Amino acid sequence: MNRRLLAIHAHPDDESSKGAGAVAFYADNEVHCALVVATGGEEGDILNPAMDRPEIVENLPAVRDAELEKAAGILGFGTIYRLGYRDSGMPDSAANQRPDAFTNAPEDEALAAIVRIIRSERPQVILGYDNQKNYPHPDHLRVHELGLKAFHAAGDDRQFPEAGPAWEPARLFAPVFSRDRIVRLHAAMLARGLESPLSRRLERIADGEDPRVDVQVPIDSTLTRARDALRSHATQVDPNGFWFQIPEEVVLDNYPWEDFTLLAASGSSNTDPHDLFGGL
Ligand SMILES: [Zn+2]
Repeated sequence: MNRRLLAIHAHPDDESSKGAGAVAFYADNEVHCALVVATGGEEGDILNPAMDRPEIVENLPAVRDAELEKAAGILGFGTIYRLGYRDSGMPDSAANQRPDAFTNAPEDEALAAIVRIIRSERPQVILGYDNQKNYPHPDHLRVHELGLKAFHAAGDDRQFPEAGPAWEPARLFAPVFSRDRIVRLHAAMLARGLESPLSRRLERIADGEDPRVDVQVPIDSTLTRARDALRSHATQVDPNGFWFQIPEEVVLDNYPWEDFTLLAASGSSNTDPHDLFGGL
């Protein structure tokens, strides 16, 4: 079987922070990986003081696109599809109201675009987002809704007949952060006498939703690359940000996986807890 994976993301940099190590793992193992990015990330704040310069602020979309190309190359994505919508901004911000914002895109139009990509790439595994209970960014919610609808529509030849011959993907997963991962990494940092950057996050997730983990993909061989990809988003990522404060060996010794929730499946359920393609 020619294995193919399609990852659907909201903004440039999401591909490097959600499921990135798993994508690199599959790219290393002869899986063709393609990426859909819904928006240009126009509303992203510059989180890296070194990049907060006028020439970068003025050209943010082009700069972010170049960052995306670099990161996608590091992770092993073979193709990038840009849906071309505008970043909708944080909840209740003015950018939500713009007609070109992803959140305001007519559903049929956005869905047709995603279905067309699915039918052209013919992935067995799609990565989308869960219901975003812990981070309700309007663009992430839209990826959740449209990802689910596109997963089901792609295999139905009565829907979007102009978008190519039907293709039924087998599984839709969401990369998630389990409470267990945060708890274990936090404890491991303290056990080493290190200051844990996860204290605040730990408090926050105590009241949040703990996502169900169906598959854990090993990232022993790809964690370094996933971090390099994230660092490539130099405007968006503080190089001293909290994930980078956790030494790689702490991750590898304590939680060397990325977690995924199965959102939908059209065929056999997974028989391998460490493989998104297990049993296919
Ligand atoms: Zn995002």
